[in-house]
Amino acid sequence: MIGIADIAHAREQIADTIHQTPLLTSKQLSLLCGNEMYLKAEHLQKTGSFKIRGATHKVKQAVREGAVSVTAASSGNHGQAVAYIASKLGIGATIVVPEDVAACKLEAIQAYQGEVEKCGLTSAERLPRAMELAKQQNGVYIPPYDDPYIMAGQGTVGLEILEQLDDVDAVFVPIGGGGLISGVLTAIKETKPSVQVIGVEPQLANDTYLSLKQNQRISIAGSTTIADGLRTSEPGELTFPVLRKYIDDVVLVTEEEIRQAFCFVLERMKQVIEPSSATVIAAAMFEKTALRNKRIVTLVSGGNVDLDQLAGLVSKSD
Ligand SMILES: *Cc1c(COP(=O)(O)O)cnc(C)c1O
Repeated sequence: MIGIADIAHAREQIADTIHQTPLLTSKQLSLLCGNEMYLKAEHLQKTGSFKIRGATHKVKQAVREGAVSVTAASSGNHGQAVAYIASKLGIGATIVVPEDVAACKLEAIQAYQGEVEKCGLTSAERLPRAMELAKQQNGVYIPPYDDPYIMAGQGTVGLEILEQLDDVDAVFVPIGGGGLISGVLTAIKETKPSVQVIGVEPQLANDTYLSLKQNQRISIAGSTTIADGLRTSEPGELTFPVLRKYIDDVVLVTEEEIRQAFCFVLERMKQVIEPSSATVIAAAMFEKTALRNKRIVTLVSGGNVDLDQLAGLVSKSD
């Protein structure tokens, strides 16, 4: 398991690459939620999501160990982050994407100078291909969450939150494979254990919720949630034990709640966040916990939303 020292080390390693993102506030949101609300604005992070934190830490380590290229199997935020940092460090990156990848995602990876290879439609097809490519190219495969360097890198956002708001009562974190929340849990519980850390999942992708209930990793069928960064079908092997040890609670939000939270943040706060991040706002807006009159930080994990998807989210009336 990673520890607080790993996260402190990660922070030094990535300091020259990432932004320290602001904590945003909104009186209206606080009023609506019955809590003092803060948004940790990782949608304003380099490459548009927190994924650059873990990717930078892991890719820098790979370079120190002699890698001349890296690969990843993600058309989303992780793929963009890996392409960005590889290009910045002057090494090659091949990102394996599905055959039906959206044009805008492809363009984002290419804009960061990443090579793109299309392969199959499922991650079960892409993952072995990315590993095989890494071997052929004397490179290193960069996993999206189940890796100690990735987890420690993501945890750096937890240290920032504690410094920016030292009397924080609770932090709400979205859960996909659990890289982000395992890092944040380690940072917070090993620094200030009185701070509650609440995980948030879509009802349609409740694998971690089920796994924690049954005390073992449960796999669910492919999810169709609009929170596309949270569609992972089971918790990670390395991330899950950290959740079991430290997490205070996991709450679930519906698709409509995610959509309404997304619209609130867009319309009232003028911030473009992605549905995966709207989940944590939804958890507060729809009072999924018993917290009242507390200081709550919602970890707004990213802001990469396709304009087509955005149009669909705002066009349905309340
Ligand atoms: C990857 C991602 C998540 C989930 O992170 P995990 O480490 O897989 O739990 C949440 N939000 C956004 C925007 C993401 O890109």
